[in-house]
Formats: sequence, C-alpha cells, structure tokens
Amino acid sequence: MSSGKAQRRPHAVLIPQPAQGHVTPMLHLAKALHARGFRVTYVNSEYNHRRLLRSRGQDSLAGTDGFHFEAVPDGLPQSDNDDVTQDIAALCLSTTAHSAAPFRDLLARLNAMPGSPPVSCVIADGVMSFAQRVAEEMGILALVFWTTSACGFMGYLHFAELIRRGYVPLKDESDLTNGYLDTAIDWIPGMPDIRLKDIPSFIRTTDRDDVMLNFDGGEAQNARRARGVILNTYDALEQDVVDALRREFPRVYTVGPLAAFANAAAGGELDAIGGNLWKEDTSYLRWLDTQRPGSVVYVNFGSITVMTAAQLAEFAWGLAGCGRPFLWVIRPDLVSGETAMLPEGFVTDTKGRGILASWCPQELVLSHPSVGLFLTHCGWNSTLESVCAGVPMLCWPFFAEQPTNCRYVCDKWGIGMEIDNDVRREEVARLVRAAIDGERGKAMRVKSVVWKEKARQAVEDGGSSRKNLDRLVDFLLAGSD
Ligand code: UDP
Repeated sequence: MSSGKAQRRPHAVLIPQPAQGHVTPMLHLAKALHARGFRVTYVNSEYNHRRLLRSRGQDSLAGTDGFHFEAVPDGLPQSDNDDVTQDIAALCLSTTAHSAAPFRDLLARLNAMPGSPPVSCVIADGVMSFAQRVAEEMGILALVFWTTSACGFMGYLHFAELIRRGYVPLKDESDLTNGYLDTAIDWIPGMPDIRLKDIPSFIRTTDRDDVMLNFDGGEAQNARRARGVILNTYDALEQDVVDALRREFPRVYTVGPLAAFANAAAGGELDAIGGNLWKEDTSYLRWLDTQRPGSVVYVNFGSITVMTAAQLAEFAWGLAGCGRPFLWVIRPDLVSGETAMLPEGFVTDTKGRGILASWCPQELVLSHPSVGLFLTHCGWNSTLESVCAGVPMLCWPFFAEQPTNCRYVCDKWGIGMEIDNDVRREEVARLVRAAIDGERGKAMRVKSVVWKEKARQAVEDGGSSRKNLDRLVDFLLAGSD
C-alpha cells in the first residue's frame, strides 16, 4: 500500500477492559472492523500482553498488515503469580486512575507515526470510560462497547435510580436472605417482571460507598456521553430492552454474536491472533468424538468465578451422581485462596465418564455434537456462545450481571434452569438428569434451536446485526449519520 493510500485508511483503536470476558468480544469486533478495511490497533494491558505471549506465543501478537497490538500499564502492583485473574474491583479503580495518561501518549504516538493513518476513532470498553474521555479531549470520535447483555447494561444504568428510590444500599446483611431480594421491580424500561435479585449483583451491598456499586453505575451513566453504544447481542433476543435503550440513546449498535463476523474472516491472515489468556487444553476433543450426540454435560465457570472448596465438592459429587458423561474445566484459581482440589475418590468414581481440563477453546466445545448441556456461571460471553450453539444451560450465576442473564435464560428464553446459590449435590444431579432426559429438557432443546437459528439469521445478509454492523462502519467512517 502506498503511503498516500495508507493515510486514507480509517484507523480504529480498540481498548478492552483487561479481563477475559472483555478481551474476547473486543477482539471479535476488531477483526470484524479489520475485515471491513480498517487499520486496527488493539490495546492490551501490559499484564495481559505478557499472558497472551505465554499462552499463544509470539505470533499471536506479532500483528499483520493493518492489525497491530499495543499495551498500556494497568497500574496494579506486580503480583507473585502473573497468570491469574486480577482482582476486578482493584483493576477498575487502577485502570481509571493510571491508564489514561499512557493511553493519551499512545494515541499521540500513533497519530505521529510515519506511514500510519491517524486515529479516526476509539472504541472504548464501557467500563474503561477514561479512554472515551481521552479520545474526546483529543477530538477523536469515541464510542463505547458494553460487552454485557443489553439487559445487564440496562440494569447498571438503573443503579442510580435504585439508590434514589431507596432500594439500595440494603439496610442490613439480612436483606440478602430474608426475601427482600424478591422485591418486584416493574419500572425499568423494557424489563418488566424482574426482581431485585435479577439486577446486577453489585447492588447487594449495605455500603453506599461500595466500589463496584459506584463504579459500574457511574460507567453506565458515562455511556450517555458517548456518540454510540455497541452491544454484543442481537435484537430478537432482547428486543424489549434494546427498544427501550434506543429510546434513551441516539445510537445503539446491536452487532452480536460478534464471533460470527470474526469467524467469517477465518482462514486468513488473522488466524494466529486469539485472545485466550490461558493456554488451551485440547486433549479431550477426541474423547468428545467418542460420546453419544447430546449426552455430555460441559461444565465451565469462566475466568473470574471463585467458589469455596465445599461448593466445588458439591458440584463434583453432583456430577458423579448424575450418571452422565461430563467435561469439566477447572481453572487453577477456581477455588478461593487455594489450588482447586477435587474431593478424594471423585476421580476414581467417575473414571471413564468424566474428563477434566484446565482451559478449553469454549466455542469449539459448545459446538461439538456430543455436548448436550452447559453448566455455566452465565457470563455474557458464555451465555451467548451457548445460545449460538443451541445448547441448553444449567445456571449458577456468580456475580455482576450474571443473575440478570440467568433470569433471561431461564424465564424469558426458556433454555435454562437455575441451581440454587447454596449448591447441593442432589440438586445438581437431579437438574442434570431433568435437563438431559426430562420433559423440561426436551422443551429447552426445542427453544435452544429456535434462538440458535435467530442468531444465525441476525448475522446473515439482511439480518439485524449485519445491518447494524454496516451502520456502525458507516458512522465510524463519516463521524456522523
Ligand atoms: N473461555 C474459554 N475457555 C475456557 C473458559 C472460558 O475460551 O475454558 C472463554 C469463553 O468462551 C468466554 C470467556 O472465556 O468467551 C468468558 O467470558 P464470560 O463473559 O462468559 O465470563 P467471565 O469470564 O467474564 O466471567
């Protein structure tokens, strides 16, 4: 490409929150924009940059024509073990306080780089609004990408109103267990029939100064200043909420499932680029090939969930007792404060029927024909990946907007069942059996196929997400509608 042409190429800078559930969808969006002719600069934290080098090798970050990686510090002190999920609250505060200046320097450097087109737009993670602010100060078009569901985002948007109306903070710790969280909330636009317990979990605090209550609530309000909000969902899935958001925000781009646009570019120059922070274990894929279609329970609680050793034991004995084959991915840091240790006797008990792994290429696993059920924490990426693969879910939401997603999965979309927070082995075994063999399971499978098909339609020619991606690209190119 001649330098004259290079000057005209649009240049998008994308910066995710440095956590797995944000890195992956932002990378998908980056690939989708690259496929549409953008030069892309993808900005990792230095911590994650090192992890990606370790998990995926040098090639994954070498970049290619028009796709480059940069890194800025997250401001957190060095840790002894730098291959674990960082404390999310600390990360939110730290990036807000320390990453703005290096990000500003980076944008200035990119603008001055010979042969590189100037930065034409910044896409900032919804919870990295400092990047949106820096871009605006430099006169660069800035949009935010909320990597949550639309219903989760709507929940965060109403933290301020929940506080104003006196629902939050909770009066007392006992409100967590005395039925108070069952209080109906019927005034959030597009979300009738929800309860306090379905709102993102950061409202479950007695402290008005709680970090996450204030941080996520504040970041959601910051989105109002952005020129546009991008969401990794599709209209049909969350129609009422998306309609309500469109009444409040001038530009809402629902472009999910973004993985479909990123995968469409597969077989090309970006194939080496991936965002998994842990080294993928693929040894069990052959085992999946040997299992009956729809028979395997896939268990994975994502990148952040931590549970107690007792909860791990309940899940283990529940899986042992359900009598079905399972693939269970256990991160080394899944159990709080210690290395995840399975109860004695569990491995021998489930030999030949259960496979354990430490991190997997999840989309590949979910799309394997032998997988019939996903036991998940309902992180938005996991939820959407399961919807796209047509796999019903057993939900054990952990925090953030996972309870909101769980409510939609179970009650609105009819493709899941919830496991009580106080998990018991008998319940795990019973629900797995009901989901695989029972009437409820049959109904969930039928609905899962419907939502999978709607997801496919959304991204094909004429589909809502494809049209929205076109609109987004047009807006990024023109800076106006
Ligand atoms: N993931 C994966 N392999 C694993 C576990 C997770 O590839 O073994 C991916 C998963 O496909 C998803 C992301 O990590 O894209 C997790 O994001 P999610 O929003 O589901 O949950 P979080 O980790 O943010 O709680």
